[in-house]
Amino acid sequence: MKVVYSPVHARHNPPVSFSLGRFVPFKESPQRVDQILASLASFGSEFELADPVDHGMEPIKRVHTKDYIAYFQNAYEKWVKRGGNPDGVFPEYLAVRQFANGGKKSGGDLGEPGFYCFDLEGVIAEGTFVAAVAAVNVVLTAADLMVDLHQTSAFALCRPPGHHAQEDLCGGYCFFNNASIATRYLIEQKKVGKVCILDIDYHHGNGTQSIFYKESNPLYVSLHGSPDYPMYWGDVDEDGEGEGKGFNVNVPLPLGTRDPEYIHALKTVVETRISEYDPDVIVVSLGVDTFIEDTVGNFLLTSDCYTEIGNVIASLGKQTLFVMEGGYDIPAIGTNVTNVLRGFDHRFGK
Ligand SMILES: [Zn+2]
Repeated sequence: MKVVYSPVHARHNPPVSFSLGRFVPFKESPQRVDQILASLASFGSEFELADPVDHGMEPIKRVHTKDYIAYFQNAYEKWVKRGGNPDGVFPEYLAVRQFANGGKKSGGDLGEPGFYCFDLEGVIAEGTFVAAVAAVNVVLTAADLMVDLHQTSAFALCRPPGHHAQEDLCGGYCFFNNASIATRYLIEQKKVGKVCILDIDYHHGNGTQSIFYKESNPLYVSLHGSPDYPMYWGDVDEDGEGEGKGFNVNVPLPLGTRDPEYIHALKTVVETRISEYDPDVIVVSLGVDTFIEDTVGNFLLTSDCYTEIGNVIASLGKQTLFVMEGGYDIPAIGTNVTNVLRGFDHRFGK
């Protein structure tokens, strides 16, 4: 399997985020990617590394607003200039609905962080913007390699993750929605036909849902813990709007979900809604924060379950682009990600 990776991800390294009223070490750390790389490398030629190719800003603009991109690009510099903590940008003024003057005013240098961010985990540090752009190039290059070289799959080992980022909002460790940008690129530039985004991160992908909520291509399917972060999203009755009605499928699962229930839920949605949709390409938002030891997620999946997840996804028999999202248990993250990818490959008879 081709794996696209850029070392630029390490430029994004805020020391802290804010949780339960305390500053805590930033869990979405560069070590996550190092561990995954080491695990992939232990399988020798099964995984073949490739460098990303620059795709410019155009594919990002097809998903995120011009104002948001401009804010994100300059946010850190403006923040520090205004006396903000150089660890990273934290919103001080929260542009909740009633307070943002109907969403018309972004509030200037110190108001913008609360206007373009929905929590205190979307911390913009000095290298965050360049790392986020590099992550987009990683995922677009992986899409190119898969389609142009007629590969059954490719893995975008990108960081920061993306599925919580909305058109004009960062949060949940996410800034640019890598999976959504790749999906739009696959549909519009690579002309692949129908895409299904299968989001198996522990958390609901509010960003991806919101970006495609009124569209019938892609089909968005999310399995996630509920009730949990991102708190206000991910119910079954959020099923799309207008042309997108019926093309947003949420599968909320209770906290404490174990291997058998998870695999049953995944198989069910794969064999019903996804098979009916009959996509040409699958984009997997691959989070492994569903792991039993993960300190962020609240499922109880074992490392063996990830092999089975790869198997079930491969049973669709479609070209599949894996895009890295969450997963915070450093000792096991490499094994768990590798198990999904190898489980997928083995089912394809490699
Ligand atoms: Zn997650």
